[in-house]
Amino acid sequence: MNITSLRAPRRTAVAAVAITMAVLGGAGAGWAAATTAQPAIKTITPRSEKDVTNLDVLRQQLRNYYGDALGTGVFAADSNYAKEASGVAADGTRYLSHHRSYGHATKAIVLDVDDTSLATWNYEVFSNWAYNPTTNADYVTGQKFPAVPGMVAMAQAAEREGYAIFFLTGRPATQEAATLGNLTADGIGVDAGYPKPTTLSDGEDGLFTKPDVSAYPDYLKAACADDPGGKCTTIHYKSATRAHIESLGYDIVGNFGDQYSDLKGGHADKTFKLPNPNYYLP
Ligand SMILES: [Mg+2]
Repeated sequence: MNITSLRAPRRTAVAAVAITMAVLGGAGAGWAAATTAQPAIKTITPRSEKDVTNLDVLRQQLRNYYGDALGTGVFAADSNYAKEASGVAADGTRYLSHHRSYGHATKAIVLDVDDTSLATWNYEVFSNWAYNPTTNADYVTGQKFPAVPGMVAMAQAAEREGYAIFFLTGRPATQEAATLGNLTADGIGVDAGYPKPTTLSDGEDGLFTKPDVSAYPDYLKAACADDPGGKCTTIHYKSATRAHIESLGYDIVGNFGDQYSDLKGGHADKTFKLPNPNYYLP
């Protein structure tokens, strides 16, 4: 069972920096003192408890937003979450249908997987919002995630209009087969009904999962050489992969993601942010 996962690399990377700096500091490297570990998320410091929402109250607000007040793990089709996600998908459909690709490039869209293409609400409830790579892998390999509302229809419309369909996820390469099965149709667990990922002009399959650092293609080695341990940050991994896709003759017209780290770093004409109040991946 693979215990690496989409959210583990970032947390591990932050810890690794802190440990490395502590070791260097202990060895007498004076400059190490200047590189104190920082939290990955930069935010306000509340002056009072009144400045924040009580965590248990916030969890209930999230259940209400997903139309799942009792926390069964099944979100409602008429929930505010479903409406908001469908609205973003509809914005995407409208934009894509009017877009003309630049030059001779093939029009393409890029979709993140978790909470962009597949909704992980059931796992948030199961885990009580405490991500654990082992239990998360059970949901991934069991192909337990339903589609994000509106997104299958958006992708199907794009495919009909001649767009190449690419998926780009921080899930590890070991989860590629299960991810493809959940997104499309393999008879195991949920088959969300997405179009098959487009095979690229060089023969690569169009579902990009994150390889182990030892197996990085040259474009990731180059883009992530200065990241801790040479391991790509999410932004570097995703933007370098989009640049790679464009280098093969595609124009990424729309890039869809639920995290800002899915969307930063360019190499897309327009970005679309899906709602996800459950976690934050810098
Ligand atoms: Mg995501």
